[in-house]
Amino acid sequence: MSSTVLGNSCLIFPFSRVNANAIGALVGSLDIHPILKDLKIYFPKISEIPEQDKYQNFQRIILAVSVYSTQVAKISKLIELYRKALKNKKLIVIAGGPHPTGDPFSMLINGPDIVCVGEGEAVFTEFIMKYLENDDYFNIKGLAYIENGILIKNPKPNPINLDEYPPFSVKHKIYRPIEITRGCAWKCRFCQIRSKGMPVRHRSVDQVLVYVDEIKKYFTRRRPDIRFISPNALSYGSPDGKNLDLNKVEELLSSIRNIVGEKGHIYFGSFPSEVRPETITVESVEILKKYTNSKKIIVGGQSGSDKVLKLADRGHSADETERAVKLLIKYDFEVDVDIIFGLPGEELTDVTDTMTHMQKLTEAGATIHSHTFMPLVGTPFANKEPGRIHNQYVELIVDLQNNRKLKGMHEKQEEIAKDLAIRKESDKEKKVIQSNHAGNLD
Ligand code: SF4
Repeated sequence: MSSTVLGNSCLIFPFSRVNANAIGALVGSLDIHPILKDLKIYFPKISEIPEQDKYQNFQRIILAVSVYSTQVAKISKLIELYRKALKNKKLIVIAGGPHPTGDPFSMLINGPDIVCVGEGEAVFTEFIMKYLENDDYFNIKGLAYIENGILIKNPKPNPINLDEYPPFSVKHKIYRPIEITRGCAWKCRFCQIRSKGMPVRHRSVDQVLVYVDEIKKYFTRRRPDIRFISPNALSYGSPDGKNLDLNKVEELLSSIRNIVGEKGHIYFGSFPSEVRPETITVESVEILKKYTNSKKIIVGGQSGSDKVLKLADRGHSADETERAVKLLIKYDFEVDVDIIFGLPGEELTDVTDTMTHMQKLTEAGATIHSHTFMPLVGTPFANKEPGRIHNQYVELIVDLQNNRKLKGMHEKQEEIAKDLAIRKESDKEKKVIQSNHAGNLD
């Protein structure tokens, strides 16, 4: 690619806290690319009105957006604003993230030209290269687009090796938690991570240490905080993602401790990662105690009804959650337990079981982290009714809130769940209109 083409082009990546991890990883993959490392990148705030002047020196502009299902309306509006502001430029819009991956069609009818379905690192760099070189990018694996009203979804690319891509961008100083594991061996039916259908992979200890060192070098004025991204932190190193390899977890944490020293803070099994209840054993808890600074551990409990847990394919019981919580508290950890109200199949008896469960957990010392079920695209529960907080819950919720034993976004999520269902219906109508024009659709 000529330096003129590169100099005349730029990438805009609207930035928000919610999307920061995805942006960090994608921009990291450009940092190590022999050519694209020199591409000019802008990170305006997602809430910012596009500024035409800022991009006047560029002829070709790529607008990249990472989208959660809860952001579709906002991002759709944003794309519209960019198209208006940059109407005299050659602008292409690419979207990736959980929503485009789960339902590429509904993303495409909301603004972008093309979407990336699944892992973005390799696909994104290949797309930018081909786009800037005027090469045919429509056949790149992992991309989807609409052609004559028909959704074209290319085959999936091979899963990436995490060791070959940085977890964040050192060049652009986007320091984020280090993704140590990608993919989940469990298949919870409400979860978008499972829906990606990607195998479990771990970043090697050596590669994690490279980025721990980068964080340490950057944060020279304060102690380094090391956090991780993982669907199930204690499964680190496990070949199947289910049978624990605690030697590997210990190797990881002890090696990080050697780098950050006693003053450095290691948060493992706490935000933004969490643990599944069955991974909490005396051995695993002693490792957490010995090597980490985690005060609070986040346990995925989700429901107090074994029937509801089974319907969601959680693979553990409510008793297992209570056992894990008691063990963690015995070792002086604070514990937050995720509970989801209104999961599919939840009836009055299940509500009663979950309330008893919440009482037992809070009496044991845990705090409930409350959610309401949202039917997310791409999951087996995508077509279920939006979650509702049963009236029976209300008194207990208020009581626990007053005693600082429950916190969460359950009310907001109940509203979001309704909005998602409404949006799904309107997308269906758009799909029918497209299909009537084209005579065929996906
Ligand atoms: S264990 Fe967690 S990350 Fe894995 S599928 Fe279930 S909810 Fe998703």
